[in-house]
This record gives sequence, structure tokens and C-alpha cells, in this order.
Amino acid sequence: MNRYVIEKIGEAAALEQLAEEAAELAQAALKLARIARGENPTPVTRKSAFDAFVEELADVKLCVSVLETEYGNIDTEGTVAVKYQRWLHRLSKMAE
Ligand SMILES: [Mg+2]
Repeated sequence: MNRYVIEKIGEAAALEQLAEEAAELAQAALKLARIARGENPTPVTRKSAFDAFVEELADVKLCVSVLETEYGNIDTEGTVAVKYQRWLHRLSKMAE
């Protein structure tokens, strides 16, 4: 099925779709953070914001899945492990 999408729209359009969905995910994450922080009121409920976050995350995952048809499996496991360790290191340097 993913091959069908790539053949219909091409690699560039799939990348553009990913960028668009990633931007929407960023907006949804920011809205959820705004609600979590509670400093700047919004009429959007937490449930609605969370549902939007999940929807945009699904859109991003779908685009990545389609692009893996073009690129093969995109293995991020090693990179994730390195970045996670770096994050933990930075956190450990924080003043308590
Ligand atoms: Mg979307």
C-alpha cells in the first residue's frame, strides 16, 4: 500500500507531507504544553488537545512509514540511544 502512495505522489511530495504533518505535530505539542503549564488560558480542553496530539503523531508515523518504502527501514535505534544518554547527562548536570 505504501508503494502505491510513493508511486502516485513521489518522494518529494511525501517528504513535504511529512514536513507539514511534523509542523502540525509541533503545534499540537505546544497546545498540550500550554494546557499542562496552565499559565496562558485556552478554551481547548486537555482531552481535545491530547486527541489532536495523537492524531498528528499518527500522521507523522504514517508519512515515515510511506517514506520507508522509498528508503528502506529507517533505523533510529542507535541514534535514539545516543541522544537519550546525552539528555540524561544534561539532566544530571542540572542544579537540584
Ligand atoms: Mg495532520
